[in-house]
Amino acid sequence: MKTAIYPGSFDPVTNGHLDIILRASKIVDKLIIAPLINFNKVHTFTLDERCRYLQILTAEMKNVEVKPFKGLLVNFARMYNAKIIIRGLRAVTDFEYEFQMALSNRKLDNEIETLFISTSLPYLYLSSGMVKEVARLGGNITDMVPEKIKQFVIDKLEG
Ligand code: ADP
Repeated sequence: MKTAIYPGSFDPVTNGHLDIILRASKIVDKLIIAPLINFNKVHTFTLDERCRYLQILTAEMKNVEVKPFKGLLVNFARMYNAKIIIRGLRAVTDFEYEFQMALSNRKLDNEIETLFISTSLPYLYLSSGMVKEVARLGGNITDMVPEKIKQFVIDKLEG
């Protein structure tokens, strides 16, 4: 059985993330979405909120689970016998960082491969940061986040 991990901040999950989740779930048997618990990084949304939004969006996807992780990603992957790490690639700006991470993870465990899925055109410049900036300023985030979680994001950020 091919199990893959899709790690990230998902702060909050966007249409760009969801697109990667949908596409990745079709090429592996099981996809574990892993929101990062990072004590050094300040997230806008709590871990509980980030997980809940992902759960709402993937409730109907039978081979997708949400499991938060902390520590080394390769250890987490080993725990679930996952040999694939999924990452999304947007413009070239993602490349340097993603490449560094992929090589570091491979050095830590050469049995785990990072699989990059290129973004779909409408989400090329979409990021969680962009969603937060627009929502805080009262702009329309309809095309940026899934409808099912849109109001939660607005309520949290419009304040
Ligand atoms: P991180 O802090 O780990 O980068 P993010 O939630 O920002 O967490 O991103 C998680 C993954 O999703 C990364 O691989 C990122 O490149 C990818 N991603 C984010 N936004 C998009 C998007 N619009 N299209 C495709 N991939 C994306």
